[in-house]
Amino acid sequence: MLRFAPSPTGDMHIGNLRAAIFNYIIALQKKDTFLLRIEDTDIERNIEGKEKDIMFLLTLFGIKWDKFIFQSENFPKHRQLAEYLISKNKAFYCYCTKGFLDKKREEAKEQKRAFRYDDSWAELEKDTNKNPVIRLRGASSDISFKDSIKGELTFKNDEIDSFVIIKENGIPTYNFACAIDDMLFDIDCIIRGEDHVSNTPKQILVHRGLDYNKDIEFAHLPIILNDEGKKMSKRDSASSVQWLLDSGYLPQAILNYLVLLGNKTPCEVFTLKECVEWFRLENVAKAPAKFDINKLKFLNREHFKLLNEQDLAVLLGYKDSSIGALAKIYLQEASTLNELRDKIDRIFAKKSLIIQDEFKAEFGDEVVILQQEILSLENVEKLSYDEFKDILIKATNLKGKKFFKPLRFLLSGSDHGPEICDLFAVVKYYLKDIVRS
Ligand code: GLU
Repeated sequence: MLRFAPSPTGDMHIGNLRAAIFNYIIALQKKDTFLLRIEDTDIERNIEGKEKDIMFLLTLFGIKWDKFIFQSENFPKHRQLAEYLISKNKAFYCYCTKGFLDKKREEAKEQKRAFRYDDSWAELEKDTNKNPVIRLRGASSDISFKDSIKGELTFKNDEIDSFVIIKENGIPTYNFACAIDDMLFDIDCIIRGEDHVSNTPKQILVHRGLDYNKDIEFAHLPIILNDEGKKMSKRDSASSVQWLLDSGYLPQAILNYLVLLGNKTPCEVFTLKECVEWFRLENVAKAPAKFDINKLKFLNREHFKLLNEQDLAVLLGYKDSSIGALAKIYLQEASTLNELRDKIDRIFAKKSLIIQDEFKAEFGDEVVILQQEILSLENVEKLSYDEFKDILIKATNLKGKKFFKPLRFLLSGSDHGPEICDLFAVVKYYLKDIVRS
């Protein structure tokens, strides 16, 4: 079984979505079950109802899960297994207070050595502290695992001291709950962000404590960097999946981009279904990848081209498929749904409302003359662009830019853009609506 295990503590980051996509692709390749597990162990930071956003986004990206659980449903099992580990002397109650541990941390810092928990401290404050935590005994030997992206990784035993598995309030820690649930659900392959590499030996230690020896495949995905070469964080708006969607990037283009990023793929533009044919974790580069919004824009335009005109029209808020055709003409200069919508809305806007002062001063009279002439034409939809143009030139006597600039403005609401003859082929069906003042 594969799983995607988001925490319901904030907006979905593109790194999380990337992990979800990769897990889902592998589940499809292996024809295996895909679990969506909401990791709600951080009671204070959980956001009520966040799982609905997560489910909505995954669905939008075409990711379907077969099973769904809240990690908290398993809290009783987590506690039970912690008790079991205590009974086997693999875990123990630790009564140390925060004050005591802070002091020890401070001492380690002063002596310029890494802080390590010492098991002999466990009961020093037993008489005064009524709320002990449970710790799993640290590693007695080195822990190694094979990562499909990073290769063989080894953690020295002294790097993994006894760590908390159940907090004072009885809630399991992320590492413990995650390791137990991966065991209970028989997870075969874990794909997640690189920030979890250092958690993996702890989770393996939990498994070993319970004599669970399944050989799980791990793959830790390199972080995604911003323009400045720093890890993309909440401060980079493009790190938020919702922000990208709100800015008019298509889910299929975002998905394409996240699979392409730092990966060896047979082509640049593809769909989820196509990735399933060739995706291999081993082809993902070890090095962090830089987020390139221009590449995403390119892919967005490519996916607009793949959409049929009716679907594109609907996405832009219009019913008629010819609006989809019109939008495709604008792909030379617009990359997002919002930019396309702006172009189309300008075409249909009342021209008197959007004419700029400067343009009005230079071409205002010609706009009015042409407008009246166009509105008086009959059966425009039967005309070719050349016929339309010749009739207007003859009727108005306008020439050169005094003719073409106002005409372009009337047909598109803008003084620059695609070839007028390409636009005319579509807008001629709506001409009376478009040319109104
Ligand atoms: N809840 C963790 C996160 O959102 C999941 C890590 C994992 O996949 O094990 O980062």
